[in-house]
Amino acid sequence: PIRTRYAPSPTGHLHIGGARTALFSYLWARKNGGSFVVRIEDTDVERNVADAEEKQLAGLKWLGIDWDESVDVGGPYGPYRSMERVEIYQQYVDQLLESGLAYRCYATSEELEAERQEQLARGEAPKYSGKYRDLTLEQEQALKAEGRVASIRFRVPEGRTITIDDAVRGKVSFESDGIGDFIIVRPDGRPTYNFAVVVDDALMEITHVVRAEEHLSNTPRQVLLYEALGFEVPVFAHASLILNPEGKKMSKRDESIIQFIDQYRELGYLPEAMINFLVLLGWAPEGEERERELFTKEELTGRFSLERVSKAPAVFDTGKLNWMNNHYIKESSLDRIVDLAWPHLEQAGRVSADPDEREREWITRLVGLYQEQLDYVAQIVDLTGLFFRTEVEYSDEAREVLKGEQVREVFTAFANELEQAGEADVTADGVKKMLKAVQKATGQKGKQLFMPVRAAVTGQTHGPDLRETIALLGKETVVDRLRRFLG
Ligand code: GLU
Repeated sequence: PIRTRYAPSPTGHLHIGGARTALFSYLWARKNGGSFVVRIEDTDVERNVADAEEKQLAGLKWLGIDWDESVDVGGPYGPYRSMERVEIYQQYVDQLLESGLAYRCYATSEELEAERQEQLARGEAPKYSGKYRDLTLEQEQALKAEGRVASIRFRVPEGRTITIDDAVRGKVSFESDGIGDFIIVRPDGRPTYNFAVVVDDALMEITHVVRAEEHLSNTPRQVLLYEALGFEVPVFAHASLILNPEGKKMSKRDESIIQFIDQYRELGYLPEAMINFLVLLGWAPEGEERERELFTKEELTGRFSLERVSKAPAVFDTGKLNWMNNHYIKESSLDRIVDLAWPHLEQAGRVSADPDEREREWITRLVGLYQEQLDYVAQIVDLTGLFFRTEVEYSDEAREVLKGEQVREVFTAFANELEQAGEADVTADGVKKMLKAVQKATGQKGKQLFMPVRAAVTGQTHGPDLRETIALLGKETVVDRLRRFLG
């Protein structure tokens, strides 16, 4: 059976890159009826962040990426946190030490740094020299007596070419001579990532290791460890970089792009849009569907394949994400969008935390008026400002329209119509009738009629349905805004 995993280090919130890796891994497992494991790689304790594990899992859950085994639900291959597996690693460390494939290295950090500087001065790529490779028992004892504490290094074989057949990149080769003996256990007894990941993937019977390109250079080290430990090497699939909208490599502080999944959630991006967008960062459908862009999670599960993952970097196109999110917002129930909009409106001081039926209904109509327009739900605050401010802000275009000659006549007629109407008649339909009457009385129609009205009551020359806008603003506000031009 196919088994895949996502193995975040708990160093921060779920990043778009991590989310895409998790998604690829998840889809490959689901497509094959396999299992998807989320394992926490927390051996870099100084980099661990307290709530990161929780945030990672919450981010995945929100995206709809569910797992079969992990720290929360357990599973037959647990524990699922590396630092809880230290005892498990021990026997494999012992095995390597006994067979001579690993050894204790007593180098101090000063020594290593000096070595590095010398190599750099000679124009060589820095690499651990292997100076503690072959100590006699006496030498070791002497070093220990000095109070030195050893790390454990893997003895990298000389003259080997290590070739991996990556599911995304094809055959990639590395020369073992470029790789220095690397640390598998730190002086304090903690395993390093490269060691823990191999033992974990092997014991958890992971068949496909899907991860980011940045780990490609770790892979030859890991392959050597698989071989040394007598484990079967899994299939590797290294997904390519995600570039920022300018086509440049992203840094953590890159402001051209929103980087974390929970930020997207807070802004009112929908999870179905996020996964649809993320999957296309590197994966493309096949054949006739080559150009198709919209897929549900179920459709993706049926179609996803590692062979269709590209080795070319993917550019993060925010415009495309917004287009996609807008599509899913339009497809959503209005109630769902209202629920998502509410906290934003509440934070802007426009709605109460505990609305009565009337308020909920009015806000529902208001959000409904803008649903088609939203790229993300938080935009509702800016878009609906004109319904909450007493002062209208007029755009330059609106000012221009309001200079028109027919304006006074139209406004007078419409204000009169509104004043004669009962509050309850000021519905979208009611407003339609009133505008008809204004047309009859003034001879103005179409744009000549609607543009000035829109400009006066909203301050803008375009926007959603004018009749519903007027109905939602209500009789008093609209009359007031019209009368300002009648002085
Ligand atoms: N823990 C690694 C990371 O967060 C993932 C390594 C892997 O997938 O092998 O980058």
